[in-house]
Amino acid sequence: MSIRLAIVGLGKIARDQHLGAIAATAGIELVAIASRNAALDGIASFNDIDELLASNMEVDAVSLCTPPQGRFAQARAALLAGKHVMLEKPPGATLSEVYALEALAREKDVSLFSTWHSREAAAVEPARALLTGRTVRNVAVEWKEDVRHWHPGQAWIWQPGGLGVFDPGINALSIVTRILPEAFHLVRSDLFFPDNRAAPIAAALSFETASGVPVEAEFDWRQTGPQTWDIRIDTAEGPVVLTHGGSRLTVDGEPRIVEEDQEYRNLYRHFVSLVGDSRVDADFTPLVHVADAFMLGRRTAVEAFED
Ligand code: NAP
Repeated sequence: MSIRLAIVGLGKIARDQHLGAIAATAGIELVAIASRNAALDGIASFNDIDELLASNMEVDAVSLCTPPQGRFAQARAALLAGKHVMLEKPPGATLSEVYALEALAREKDVSLFSTWHSREAAAVEPARALLTGRTVRNVAVEWKEDVRHWHPGQAWIWQPGGLGVFDPGINALSIVTRILPEAFHLVRSDLFFPDNRAAPIAAALSFETASGVPVEAEFDWRQTGPQTWDIRIDTAEGPVVLTHGGSRLTVDGEPRIVEEDQEYRNLYRHFVSLVGDSRVDADFTPLVHVADAFMLGRRTAVEAFED
């Protein structure tokens, strides 16, 4: 039987990606929406998750597409009701809450899938496989985009827990933590906060692997014109470069992979397989690095940001 799924928070990402990916995935069907200000014709609609869970509607799983602040209460309510849960990235507003959700999912024997859509980009797994056989010398991440274009009017993203520039930056961290053969830890963090905002608009991070390989990351939301979502790994055998958010791969100067985006279809395919045996897939490493960036961050005030 198909997994009966409800979407919570019918906003930008739910409409841009989730609806199409669910429709294209075997074994799962959308049966309900829980959203205060949005509904879909022909689909049962509820104001919020509590109203949904209190109803007679039969759902097996929920996909939380709301902002990270407030997602803990939604996920906890769903897990306590025995529903499988899929979390948008970042999985939550704090580390303690996401680890608590993981523990609760295991206790209730239901699936929790903490998604990282960028890990599903076409070049990520091939890069991971390639790097196991190479000696990494240096890693440089540049994730620079125009916040006005990608997040117009999104108040939550600038509020505590919204993560500011780490909302996209965590996508880069999700890729780097997946493809590098060695773990790494933060050694320096510079955060740039607009005078009138509670979240950074830019960040410069320096990490090191246990064997001392430098991993430098620059995140910036002030980039207009062409957008940059690139990761360059210099290895003893030649450069391995992921561009376009991980959908293209160039190895030793030769283009290897250029593929259409299948990220959300891959996520839902994986969720169907997890739910099949109530497995948990919850790797919070990218969020750990973001938390470290705030803990170690030297703060610099920059020009106020107006939408
Ligand atoms: P959004 O459109 O601003 O919000 C999604 C929906 O959540 C809203 O339409 C709203 O629906 C509901 N909501 C509940 N509490 C809210 C609050 N306090 N403030 C605003 N909305 C609230 O956000 P989004 O861009 O879809 O992002 C949602 C999550 O997906 C984030 O974690 C984000 O990082 C992730 N994501 C976004 C993108 C993207 O391109 N936008 C890409 C990948 C991942 P109701 O008002 O109807 O309840």
